[in-house]
Amino acid sequence: MEVSGKIQCPFCGQAFDLVVDTSVASQRFTTDCEVCCRPFEVFAECEPGEILSLDAVSE
Ligand SMILES: [Zn+2]
Repeated sequence: MEVSGKIQCPFCGQAFDLVVDTSVASQRFTTDCEVCCRPFEVFAECEPGEILSLDAVSE
């Protein structure tokens, strides 16, 4: 089940919506910022149908 959540870009600080597959309990993936187009890593923790946490990973 896919749910959209808010993520904040670590480069430009803009928040935008990101769709996450909540059938995976814990996942890391790379996404591109919708505003500045830079790629960054996201860490998501989910329950089916609900996003528990969604954070940009700073290296
Ligand atoms: Zn950005």
